[in-house]
Amino acid sequence: MKTLLTQHQLDEGVSRLASEISHYYRGQPLAIVGVLTGSIVFLADLIRRLNRSLRLGLVQASSYRGAATSPGELVIHTGLLPELKGQHLLLVDDIYDTGLTLDGVIRQLIPHGPLSVRSVVLLRKHGRKIAAIEPDHVGFEIPNEFVVGYGLDYRGAYRNLPYVASLEAAELSDTPELMPDSSLRGST
Ligand code: 5GP
Ligand code: MG
Repeated sequence: MKTLLTQHQLDEGVSRLASEISHYYRGQPLAIVGVLTGSIVFLADLIRRLNRSLRLGLVQASSYRGAATSPGELVIHTGLLPELKGQHLLLVDDIYDTGLTLDGVIRQLIPHGPLSVRSVVLLRKHGRKIAAIEPDHVGFEIPNEFVVGYGLDYRGAYRNLPYVASLEAAELSDTPELMPDSSLRGST
């Protein structure tokens, strides 16, 4: 495991994002919605640097990989959403990889009637983009490596690391029986 972003770098990056976001939404009603589960550490640090009023909520995005559903189909659980009508919506996610998660979440939240929808991601991985949408605020650009820590997991582990590390190929195993979640649903 190789450290990619230290606690100090994360701290500076999150402060920079908080200042961008504060300036952008100055004087506007704001709802911040984190995408479970990977965003929670970033979300908690980010909102504590926003010195303003805001609504907070969460969505869970699950991609169903079962034979009965088309691959990558995204199901969004909206039970923890705040009221979005009359609010500008800022989505918070851990990492932009293909962009399909963010794209799917945005499409499904637009009908809830926010004044606008933008997004912030802690990390953007290079060379994997499929979706047309771009995140509006990006903490760090990273190479195409599998990363863990600061909310990001590998098979349910490492979310509580206070830094971001990349796992080497030898540390990534595809043995299906070791998967912590043996159901067909994969939560990001
Ligand atoms: P996308 O839909 O943009 O391809 O993927 C976004 C989701 O995939 C992220 O929210 C995250 O949960 C997961 N993901 C993508 N790349 C990585 C990675 O390098 N490490 C981890 N732990 N999760 C990733
Ligand atoms: Mg995620």
